[in-house]
Amino acid sequence: MTELIDAHIHTERCGHATGTVDEYVAAAEAQCLSAIIITDHLPLPLELDPDRHLAMPDDQLDAYLAEVEDAREEHPTVGVVTGLEADYLPDRIDQTRATLRELRRRADGPRVVLGSVHFLDGWAFDDPAVLAEWDSRDVDQVWRDYFARWCDAARSGLFDVMAHPDLVKKFGHRPSFDARELYQEAAKAASDGNVLIEVSTAGLRKPVGELYPGPDLLREFCAAGVEATVGSDAHSPSEVGFGLEIAYTALREAGYRYILLPVARREQRMIPL
Ligand code: ZN
Ligand code: FE
Ligand code: FE
Ligand code: ZN
Repeated sequence: MTELIDAHIHTERCGHATGTVDEYVAAAEAQCLSAIIITDHLPLPLELDPDRHLAMPDDQLDAYLAEVEDAREEHPTVGVVTGLEADYLPDRIDQTRATLRELRRRADGPRVVLGSVHFLDGWAFDDPAVLAEWDSRDVDQVWRDYFARWCDAARSGLFDVMAHPDLVKKFGHRPSFDARELYQEAAKAASDGNVLIEVSTAGLRKPVGELYPGPDLLREFCAAGVEATVGSDAHSPSEVGFGLEIAYTALREAGYRYILLPVARREQRMIPL
């Protein structure tokens, strides 16, 4: 049987998930996953998350890193990797770079950083709390803006893996034009930036009802030689390992023969599909 891993897991510290690190690791053990990466949201600037419901508060980062470290020692049967999910914020690239550099140098710091685009000019387009904002937007333009931002993020050198590559489709909004051109640009950017992409099963649980990325985009990534990993983006322990077989099947159908488990900066373990 193919080895099961989950490279994208949150904890209750981010303000919109439930469960402690220990509960997530126990869930992974129960499902016989061989490895997981705990990737809670790096604290956001206060103006983007004033009530702290999108990312963990700054003062919890140390405790978070210590907790993942403890879990790794206490659960020898599942490989626990310390990670973070960080937002790509174009007007704060230097700060993000400095923060991640400092964190990566710590003995208990993140080995893997997922890069995400959740904001377009301050609008958290994937946050159900501000879903109504979509009604006043030009969907075609949102898609173009999203992918332009995503490509910049992939090339930025900040991240090891680009999370949920076509998150912009979360609520089912689709462009009126053929998105293929955007997909090819995304594949080129991921290749240029030497990042992995995540095949995320979270989309299966959202209104869009499909993997991120969808089959057309995943094929472009494969054709461009972009390596892939898989994650559930679990926000509760019951979601750990969710839909992995579906992700593996989609990867095989797109042409992938293996996935990679990132374990450190530019260091991965190969898992045949
Ligand atoms: Zn989250
Ligand atoms: Fe995300
Ligand atoms: Fe996430
Ligand atoms: Zn996420």
